[in-house]
Amino acid sequence: MRLSAAAIPALCSAAVVLSLAGTTPVLAQPFDGQRDAQPESATLAIVGGLLIDGHEGAPLPGGIVLVDGDRIVAAGSRETLAVPDGAEVIDATGMTIMPGLIDVHVHLDILGHSDYQHWHGSHRPNYPAIMEVSARQLLMSGVTTAVDLAGNPDALIATKERVESGAIPGPRIVASMGWITHWTDEEVQRHHRRTHTVNVRTVEEARAAARTAIAQGAGILKVHTGLTEAQLRAIAAEADRNGLRVTGHVGDRDDLLMRIRSGQDGIEHLSLSAGDSPIIHPDVIQGLLDRRTWVVPTMIQTLAQGLTAEWPDRRDNPRARALTPPDLWADIRSSIENPRRFGYFGGGLRVSRFRALRAKLRQLRDAGVRVLVGTDAGTPLNFHTDATWQEMDLMVRFGFEPMEVLVTATRRNAEYLGLGDEIGSLTPGKRADVIVVDGNPLLSMRDLRNVVAVVRDGRVYKRPGPGAR
Ligand SMILES: [Zn+2]
Repeated sequence: MRLSAAAIPALCSAAVVLSLAGTTPVLAQPFDGQRDAQPESATLAIVGGLLIDGHEGAPLPGGIVLVDGDRIVAAGSRETLAVPDGAEVIDATGMTIMPGLIDVHVHLDILGHSDYQHWHGSHRPNYPAIMEVSARQLLMSGVTTAVDLAGNPDALIATKERVESGAIPGPRIVASMGWITHWTDEEVQRHHRRTHTVNVRTVEEARAAARTAIAQGAGILKVHTGLTEAQLRAIAAEADRNGLRVTGHVGDRDDLLMRIRSGQDGIEHLSLSAGDSPIIHPDVIQGLLDRRTWVVPTMIQTLAQGLTAEWPDRRDNPRARALTPPDLWADIRSSIENPRRFGYFGGGLRVSRFRALRAKLRQLRDAGVRVLVGTDAGTPLNFHTDATWQEMDLMVRFGFEPMEVLVTATRRNAEYLGLGDEIGSLTPGKRADVIVVDGNPLLSMRDLRNVVAVVRDGRVYKRPGPGAR
């Protein structure tokens, strides 16, 4: 541990901030020795404000992050670091500096519209244009890495290229390139995502589907329902060989246990027990622990309609509206006029559902199951502009410590994706994905609505100032 004398009082006051926030005070993690080493040059300096670096340690007041090109070169406090000449400065005084958010479950081809058949029927030829809107909404809301779990491969490849070249603003995209199913032909034809449903009948076809997605650049594989144990094992083996995770939906309890045992790494949605039962079967908990399976609860997807029915003004979500072309917004707005009529997520309004989610999430937490932050953003009323902070807010309301939630949405999500060496914390050498929040998420996760600066790969996409929110 190497701390300057000047930094010690600052860390003590950070501990006070933590205890005021109702979190368990934690000892400051040692800076890793290079963190406050002064670099000779930097292209960007984010200066002032509370520094939350993506590790569990106490936040550091008077923080500073120095970026050179696309990498972080130093993170520490103004007591120990100076801004090199020539660096662009973002003043974060009074705000919070933290790693960019990572959302491990989004859908870039949808924007919150509530009629899938209408949406995909109308916009299938326009997926690249829709994905451009989603990408901008996510990035401007502080999501610097997003995992797409269902999109059309051609549109995703094009969108990824445009984002990576800087042609359009967007998060780093990790994509499953559609999903793999074992359905009847009729089920495939009926489904609105039929153009990017890869339906398999045999183990060989399952293996081939995994290889095709990987060849298309998939950074994760997504399995939907109906697959046999042998098919799942073949897909999981192919993913394993390429260092990728397999995630997806689950059916009933037997199906869930079969998937865990077959090597499915992630379970999407908190559908871990029948209906609204708040109890996850002990065999399932044990299976999740034994195989170290991750769970992505996507609670906001389940609750978005009910919350909107209770608070109809949310249909006019100003952040989503501001970042959606007017013709698309008019289409979305008319589809969400009456949130109570939607069938797809029926029952979202019921108090019992809220209680069941809370009970299941607490059961997972108390058992030590690994939970991630993913939202299903883009699903009905679940806008890309708000889904991530709302999921994080629900986690806090359901008993997680705020610092744990911040670390989950950054470093742990990065580790799950196999990107832990590249992103997820403000560590020198990592990619410069940094956001500035006007407020303190340790005190209120809702402050994440106020992301006033966004840096991805060292490039500034949003700066504090009028209209930054
Ligand atoms: Zn989804």
